[in-house]
Formats: sequence, C-alpha cells, structure tokens
Amino acid sequence: MKVAFFAETADGKINRSVYELLAWSRRLAVPEEIAAVVITPSVDEAELRRLASSGARHVFLCEAPSIDRADIPVCAAILRSFCAAYRPDVLLGAASVFGRALFPYAAMQMKTGLTADCTMLETDPETGLLLQTRPAIGGNVMAVIKTPDRKPQMATVRPRSAPEPTPYTGAAGTITRLPLPETPHAFGAPRTVSSARLALGEELADARRIVAVGKGIKREGNIDLARRLADRIGAALGATREVVDRGWLPYSAQIGLSGKTVVPELYIALGISGAVQHLAGMRTAQKIVAVNSDPDAPIFQVADLGIVGDLFEVVPRLIKEFEPKRN
Ligand SMILES: Cc1cc2nc3c(=O)[nH]c(=O)nc-3n(C[C@H](O)[C@H](O)[C@H](O)COP(=O)(O)OP(=O)(O)OC[C@H]3O[C@@H](n4cnc5c(N)ncnc54)[C@H](O)[C@@H]3O)c2cc1C
Repeated sequence: MKVAFFAETADGKINRSVYELLAWSRRLAVPEEIAAVVITPSVDEAELRRLASSGARHVFLCEAPSIDRADIPVCAAILRSFCAAYRPDVLLGAASVFGRALFPYAAMQMKTGLTADCTMLETDPETGLLLQTRPAIGGNVMAVIKTPDRKPQMATVRPRSAPEPTPYTGAAGTITRLPLPETPHAFGAPRTVSSARLALGEELADARRIVAVGKGIKREGNIDLARRLADRIGAALGATREVVDRGWLPYSAQIGLSGKTVVPELYIALGISGAVQHLAGMRTAQKIVAVNSDPDAPIFQVADLGIVGDLFEVVPRLIKEFEPKRN
C-alpha cells in the first residue's frame, strides 16, 4: 500500500504532528512506499533531512515564498497534482486547524472520500483497504469507515493518537522538488487579511501544561480563577464535557473521548470527577495533579498528586505559590 501524508510546517519547522502521521504510515506500509508532501513558503533543510531519515523514504517538497501557509486552494491543487502523479493509495493529514480545512477541500476536488479525526488506522487483512476508526455519535460508538471505490483513501488523524514510533534504522529517503501548479486559484488569489492567535483550545493538543476545569468550578464566572492559575504557570485551559455542554467554555476546550486527546507534561484537574470518557483524553499526561473535594473521586486513581479539598481554597493558594519571586 502506497501511503503519503501531508507534512505541515510553521516558521520553517516541521510540525510535531507530522511525525505522528509518519508513525501511522509505518504501521500501514513498508518504508519504500511512504511519502511525505511538504508544502511551504520555506523550510529548514535540516528539518527535511530529519524527516527523510526518520522513515519517510520519499519527501516531496513544494517550496515557494508565494505559498501562504493558510492558502487552501493552492495547497489542495498541489496535493491533487501530486496524487495524480504519485498515485498513493492513502493520503493522511493531521486533524489540525489547517488540516481540517484543507482535507475536505482537497477530497472534494479529487472526488474521493474523507474520514475526519481518526483515532485508529489499520489495514483490512482481507481487502487491503484502509480501516479508518473515529468516534461517532458524540463518542457513543467507534465507527470503522472504508473508502472502497476511490483513491486516495483520505483521512485526517487526531493529534496525539499515534502509536509510539519504533526507532527507524533504514536508509534515508530522497528529497524531490515539486513545481507549483499553474492556475490553482479558481476564485482569485487569496490574501491574508489579518492573523490572530488561535482561539482558546486550539493550542491544547500541543500544550506542555494544561489546567482543566470540571463541573466542580460551579459557574462560568469562576473559570477566571482557573484561567489565572493557567496564566501564572503558562498553561492552556481545558475542560470536561460538563463544562462545555453548559456553554462555560467552547467545544475547542473539551478534552476526552468526544473532544481532544492531550499529552502535556503537567495536567492540573480542578473539580473533575475522572469519568472514563474524560480520562480517555488525558490519562497519558506525564504528571497529573487533581484537586477534588471528594476523596473517592476516580480522578485520584490516575493522579500523581491528589489534593483533597475545596478548589476555591486550593487554587488561590497555588496561584500565590507560583507568584514570581522577587529578589
Ligand atoms: C458518549 C460520551 C462521550 C463523552 N465524552 C466526554 C469527553 O470528551 N470529555 C469529558 O470530559 N466528558 C465526556 N463525557 C461525559 C463524562 O461521562 C462525564 O459526565 C464528565 O466527564 C464529567 O465531567 P465533570 O468531571 O466536570 O463533572 P462531574 O462528574 O459532575 O464531577 C464534578 C466533580 O467536581 C468535584 N467538586 C465539586 N465541587 C468541588 C469543589 N468546590 N472543589 C473541588 N472539587 C469539587 C466533585 O466532587 C466531582 O468529582 C462523555 C459521555 C458520554 C456518554
């Protein structure tokens, strides 16, 4: 099976999610059949070489200063002409903010199917097709989806759901330049009107520290307390579904089975009971600190440090504790 994946870049660096796509590709195909497509205004040469020596045996690079990183029609046109020439059986992308916008557009242009936000990819032993698993109906079922009649079989993959990559010791890949397609814009050239910091929650998947709130925060106005702690320690703010369903924080902040999967170095859970659906999205955090007034709350079973207490007493003390020290 020929597997290709779209390698996103930012500021000349290849995103971490790309190595997760590579880990999935290595599960699906032999190294000779794995290709990365890098579309970028510019990228560090060393970054490309690292990708090529990590198991991507063919790295295709379309690099031009005129490429706007957020330019969906151009990126889709490049992917389409790449697929017409290379003919991959499978094309993967990260379910990042950009991947979620680009892949439907590209799939529509290539008249093929797309499964968004997969958490598992396998090869069907009988048909050789890609089995694309993703939570559906609010996380109540895990749907296994196939694209039997169209190529490439396209999927975006939820960040942090990849298997642990095994070290790659094979031959380094080649780097081949792709030309820019001639007339990629059907609707005129897009231009960047303004750029802004990502909305709350979008940076969660990459956050090294997360402060997450549960229903124990009691009401929307109290979320400021958690936000102050998050700001103090340079953390992103996340939430349980209970909080999101009440409209206290947007869906982009939801962590768990039907939200995001996160793997931060530090996860501080405030007023979160620890339901299995929430744990599904955060239990692999490196250090979990839980604050809960109920000593029997299941969250304490996964916590490295448990604080039994009222979060409205504990959090102000934590904020004070992390106050920058004056000399
Ligand atoms: C199909 C499906 C998918 C789901 N997907 C998700 C998902 O993606 N993410 C998710 O989070 N949930 C998900 N859920 C919901 C999940 O089952 C739980 O209902 C939810 O995680 C509970 O959220 P919570 O911990 O905020 O609330 P609760 O379970 O109500 O817990 C609140 C906690 O706060 C504590 N508390 C109360 N007051 C204080 C205080 N003053 N100080 C300290 N602690 C206090 C309580 O002791 C309690 O443990 C899903 C459910 C289903 C059925």
